[in-house]
Amino acid sequence: MPVHFPMGYRICAGCNTEIGYGRFLNCLSAFWHPECFCCHACNLPISDYEYHPKCEVCNHFIPTNTAGLIEYRAHPFWIQKYCPSHEHDGTPRCCSCERMESQNTGYVALNDGRKLCLECLDSAVMDTRNCQPLYRDIQEFYEGLNMKVEQQVPLLLVERHALNDAREGEKNGHYHMPETRGLCLSEEQTISTILRRPRSGRGNCTMNMITEPYKLTRRCDVTAILILYGLPRLLTGSILAHEMMHAWMRLQGFRTLSQDVEEGICQVLAHMWLLTQLESASSNAPQTSLSATSSRLKKGKRSQLDRKLGEFFKHQIRRTLEHIRVTGRFPK
Ligand SMILES: [Zn+2]
Ligand SMILES: [Zn+2]
Ligand SMILES: [Zn+2]
Ligand SMILES: [Zn+2]
Repeated sequence: MPVHFPMGYRICAGCNTEIGYGRFLNCLSAFWHPECFCCHACNLPISDYEYHPKCEVCNHFIPTNTAGLIEYRAHPFWIQKYCPSHEHDGTPRCCSCERMESQNTGYVALNDGRKLCLECLDSAVMDTRNCQPLYRDIQEFYEGLNMKVEQQVPLLLVERHALNDAREGEKNGHYHMPETRGLCLSEEQTISTILRRPRSGRGNCTMNMITEPYKLTRRCDVTAILILYGLPRLLTGSILAHEMMHAWMRLQGFRTLSQDVEEGICQVLAHMWLLTQLESASSNAPQTSLSATSSRLKKGKRSQLDRKLGEFFKHQIRRTLEHIRVTGRFPK
């Protein structure tokens, strides 16, 4: 039988004293002083809005630090909260979206040491043939800007070591920080290109990778565009849009630009292409080129995910542009 008290007369279930007219919580069929409603794990009060956060990596309550405060790390875009210790305990991050691997979802290992979350894997572009529809899409994007690349530039998907080797082989090569994921080549080189996607075995992608040497011949100032394999479609596309701009500028005879200026221009083009993709996704227009990857997810969920990933890649580019705005330089 419910007990009725006159207005304002409430007993705290924590300390058994009257609450009066102060703030109170109504939780677990009882009234509490906000400071008396404490977390079982750490004995700190759980105020109205702040709950003791659970770590999204180990699924435990995030421990208090030596000062008795709950200290957690959170990714600035994904807001994934985790214990600070996971930054040093070898917890892998997805090489594409940067989220940390949670202990109840396995990431897929690529054969060059990178790890990929299942959501990024779902639209990952894995081999050279797989990437051609996306290449045509980006060529059309450049044509739409009246910046058609007239020359036939081969686009090759490669492993990380092949990309690094090719970078070493360029006379005027440039580095992309924090990691090179695409290159626009000008030298004649032989590139080990991925002919067939690796079959994903249990928990890894190392089986049956078939590569083939590809001899570049110099017909113009650009011999090839190389892209790191295994990245989701929107990221692969934005890297490709960036490298296409290097190619376009080289072929148009832009030779005296400083590297910072050139990189900044290329990032703007990558950003523009991502925007067109996000717009077409939100207007539900049929996409002109889906990667050949068979999607394990339903269409609706897929496009929602693509959208979120696309927003993240956009956020990364904005971060770079913001760095340029503040420092006047491209991040090193
Ligand atoms: Zn109390
Ligand atoms: Zn944790
Ligand atoms: Zn990911
Ligand atoms: Zn670049």
